[in-house]
Amino acid sequence: MPRPHQPDESTFRAILPKEIDWQPFPAFPPAARLAVLVVHPSEAGPYVLRVKVPGGTRLMPHKHPEDRIYTVMSDVFYIGFGEEFDGEKVKAYPPGCVIVLPGETWHCHWAKAGEYVTQVTAIGPLGLEYGKIYQRPFGGQTIGYGKQMAQRTCAATDRAGHAILHTLYQQCLKHGTEFYVEYFALDLLMDDDGGCRGLLAWNLDDGTLHRFRAHRTVLATGGYGRVYFSCTAAHTCTGDGNAMVLRAGLPLEDMEFTQFIRPASMARAA
Ligand SMILES: Cc1cc2nc3c(=O)[nH]c(=O)nc-3n(C[C@H](O)[C@H](O)[C@H](O)COP(=O)(O)OP(=O)(O)OC[C@H]3O[C@@H](n4cnc5c(N)ncnc54)[C@H](O)[C@@H]3O)c2cc1C
Repeated sequence: MPRPHQPDESTFRAILPKEIDWQPFPAFPPAARLAVLVVHPSEAGPYVLRVKVPGGTRLMPHKHPEDRIYTVMSDVFYIGFGEEFDGEKVKAYPPGCVIVLPGETWHCHWAKAGEYVTQVTAIGPLGLEYGKIYQRPFGGQTIGYGKQMAQRTCAATDRAGHAILHTLYQQCLKHGTEFYVEYFALDLLMDDDGGCRGLLAWNLDDGTLHRFRAHRTVLATGGYGRVYFSCTAAHTCTGDGNAMVLRAGLPLEDMEFTQFIRPASMARAA
């Protein structure tokens, strides 16, 4: 007795590469494309689709309920495992490779070496669940009045701070900036007309006092959160710069813009 056909497989047909209809897919990064070849994956039954991921794009950790078979059609397909993206641990598979991925396996993809295309064969309906954004407890906030730490800080990578720090340092090198690392500013040096002529600093290394003469003086001594009893600011945030300005008879501005009372600085938590 002949077997019943699977959905969309009862008549002969061929799909030529030029007929493949690449479409955005809501669950993908915007530049990635999906092409339905046999049966829409949202329906029950065997489906075949292709996925095209442009160079550099990452598909962050996710899992599918259905078992999947990937065939690498072009270029290099990278897959990593686990609920966290780790670019060091992704594995590379060249064109022609067949990969069996059991359902419910946390994994991620990265078009590390340029655009790749894979073909996916599986039994629908397709499902896709992304993992949670990396979060960590930070700053002392608790849930239930101290019963449990709150996961309140979301982080992707430390790239922004890293880029800022290195750009700043490179620019300092470019302009021949001299650093006086162990020097602690004590007071601004003012002339009789109220103009700032530099500052007085204490070399913590040997205890000597130094006058720095300057046409322009810029204070970047940070915030003054540590004047408050409870605070998560660095312990250097004592308001030294502000105090120097006041002692020199100059006004301070926007003093209300200090960040001391937030979940991160709940009393006794920080
Ligand atoms: C716990 C915490 C978490 C934060 N998280 C984030 C975040 O995720 N993202 C974000 O964008 N911002 C964050 N911020 C805020 C951010 O870190 C600050 O706004 C920023 O670092 C302020 O930079 P600044 O250069 O003005 O001061 P600072 O970075 O405080 O630099 C001031 C410097 O001046 C030095 N100094 C002070 N007095 C003297 C003196 N008398 N003589 C010589 N040197 C002196 C200090 O040692 C210090 O090195 C966070 C802040 C805190 C406290």
